[in-house]
Amino acid sequence: MKLNEALDAGEAVLSEGGTALDAVTRSILVLEDSPLFNAGKGSVFAHDGTNQMDASIMEGKTLMAGAVGGVRHVRNPILAARAVMEQSDHVLLTGEGADQFAAEMGLDTVGTEYFFTQRRWDALMKARKQSAPDPGNPSGQDRKFGTVGAVALDRAGNLAAGTSTGGMTNKKWNRLGDSPIIGAGTYADNRSCAVSCTGHGEYFIRYAVAHELVSRMRYIQGDLDQTATSLLRDELFPAGGTGGLIALDKNGNISMPFTTEGMYRGMTRPGKRFVAIYLNE
Ligand code: ASP
Repeated sequence: MKLNEALDAGEAVLSEGGTALDAVTRSILVLEDSPLFNAGKGSVFAHDGTNQMDASIMEGKTLMAGAVGGVRHVRNPILAARAVMEQSDHVLLTGEGADQFAAEMGLDTVGTEYFFTQRRWDALMKARKQSAPDPGNPSGQDRKFGTVGAVALDRAGNLAAGTSTGGMTNKKWNRLGDSPIIGAGTYADNRSCAVSCTGHGEYFIRYAVAHELVSRMRYIQGDLDQTATSLLRDELFPAGGTGGLIALDKNGNISMPFTTEGMYRGMTRPGKRFVAIYLNE
């Protein structure tokens, strides 16, 4: 199963003493290269038949962050986000400029046909027949198949978070969701926790979900799972926003709440591995 492969990739980095940032990057690369997830190779289609991908990454030690929005050619958007963080003075690059930057940084670029998958194309055709994107189902698909994200804590006590997505099926007007927005879809701060979100991006932006959770954990220092679950269930969901998140705090506590039918998720630490889809697994 791909999730196990992604966990293996991240765990290999950490067990060799590597950084949380590398572990997050390695895990997300596995998922971006798989056609099964809505990121990289398996990205959904926008209304005009293009794939427009978003990704972001953040390091909890330095609060350095990088993101790309609406890229169409870089094979692995998470590497482009990381290059923005490490090799530019900026945090967020979009569109053609972001693809150009990725190419200049020596990242693999591909023709747009690389991102074609029949399943995503059929989903677009179906969504186009219906009217606007369905607000309760922003990706226009089975909500178990979505955006990918990873959070990690390394031996040095550093946290990192990353997120990558094709966004919402049938999106228009260069719409960006929460995934490339630092503070909305992704945030990491060593003083608190690392967070990566999935779901109806507009709500995650408005509620600045990733940063909100980091702040609550930093200032209130409650239970991570209770705090994350309540943010999604008691605030976002009643307002109309469905989704989920994965969070990991500086003490190694993990929370993976969601308000959708299921969320592919997994965790690994020495001696323990867990992978699940539905709620009570
Ligand atoms: N959050 C993503 C977006 O709104 C979609 C998803 O997570 O499925 O673009």
